[in-house]
Amino acid sequence: AVPDALLAVRGLEGWYGESHVLHGIDLDVRAGEVVTLLGRNGAGKTTTLRAIIGILGRRAGSITYEGVETIAMASRNIARLGLGYVPEERGIFASLTVAENLMLPPVVKPGGMSVAEIHTLFPNLKERAGSQGTKLSGGEQQMLAIGRILRTGAKLILLDEPTEGLAPVIVQQIGRTIRELKGRGYTIVLVEQNFRFAQTLADRHVVIEQGRVVDEIANDALDANIDKLHAYLGV
Ligand code: ATP
Repeated sequence: AVPDALLAVRGLEGWYGESHVLHGIDLDVRAGEVVTLLGRNGAGKTTTLRAIIGILGRRAGSITYEGVETIAMASRNIARLGLGYVPEERGIFASLTVAENLMLPPVVKPGGMSVAEIHTLFPNLKERAGSQGTKLSGGEQQMLAIGRILRTGAKLILLDEPTEGLAPVIVQQIGRTIRELKGRGYTIVLVEQNFRFAQTLADRHVVIEQGRVVDEIANDALDANIDKLHAYLGV
């Protein structure tokens, strides 16, 4: 347990219908940290994020954010505490413009980024402000999905595989953005398949297997633990 944790998850259980997929996840995240969740497909990483943000229908255990218990709270109230979620599928509305998509999620907390700040962070979004969601590249969609969460005022950002399917140059740009956000004091929990990418920005890596946390590896110990990591990830 981390005494000064911003987010503290204890004994988190989660279900889809009758299917029990999280079996007592324990996770602490300090303010300003970047923590990755690593693990094989189906290990429960996405489900853990969905439970933290309150959109997993059935969950039990304890999740506190700034000391506030959220396990029984509705997702909109959890968001109001300052948590934001960028799902793997990004959720861009094809029929809306970039500018309209950016304004879509409600502001949950004062102190979110202005549109101008988001445009400084992602210049592509400024150029594409009038374009429809459908016209965006995968990388631009990811930037839009991250940008609009920053506008809401969320300070803990849950990112699900932001680099999935993106070209290496865009992956690097997303990496720079995440480091920039860390520099500005944001706290980030990142689900990532590409641990070499995760290594360029994370403080720690938490390994999930079959709905449980089975290991934690400090970023500077990643290379020394590479065989173990390969075994966890089945690569
Ligand atoms: P991936 O990288 O494949 O998303 P993951 O570690 O994020 O892997 P989860 O998506 O959290 O894994 O899935 C955990 C378990 O829950 C898996 O067994 C998966 O099949 C199951 N699952 C995920 N989504 C649903 C759903 N909507 N309904 C039923 N079962 C689900």
